[in-house]
Amino acid sequence: MPDHNQTAPGELEVVRRFINTWSFPNDTREETDALPELARAPEGWRKVFPHQSRSRLDALGRLQRLRADLRTACQGEASSDEVLNEWFNSAALHVKTRWIVGATKLMIESSEASFVGYIVAVVANAIASGEWARLKTCPDCRWAFYDHTRNGSKRWCGMTKGGPDGRACGTIAKVTAYRAREAMKGGVA
Ligand SMILES: [Zn+2]
Repeated sequence: MPDHNQTAPGELEVVRRFINTWSFPNDTREETDALPELARAPEGWRKVFPHQSRSRLDALGRLQRLRADLRTACQGEASSDEVLNEWFNSAALHVKTRWIVGATKLMIESSEASFVGYIVAVVANAIASGEWARLKTCPDCRWAFYDHTRNGSKRWCGMTKGGPDGRACGTIAKVTAYRAREAMKGGVA
């Protein structure tokens, strides 16, 4: 059975949800940005991010820049290091030890009381734990999903249209590749 679970573990899911406030749905193929509306209406914001409030440091433009940079960083390119480091500086991240269930754990936190600070700290902790590498964006529609496959080889957001968030990106790519192969065969014969 295809795995339609795209949800990221723990707080990384908030990051995934944040990235996906921008989308490029397969049916409309139109860029859709839910962030301006969420920033305008606090009750809408609370529905999407029930545990993280917005502060005055979370201007819409800053949120949109962070979101665009995170989506790019999810593609796992070396050039994203610099971009992420800038956000880590901007949100004044620092390291702390915390006693959690009988052991000292290292936690990365932001000195900034803001949504941006929260998101950036979650990203940093996810890089440290290795989970960040499994948060990916679909090469076709840019939807962010968490790769639950054993070997971390998932590339497309959904292989079939099934499931609540089902999209057809992988299927479209497969059909295109199949047609290209068939066309090649036709050309040779
Ligand atoms: Zn996709």
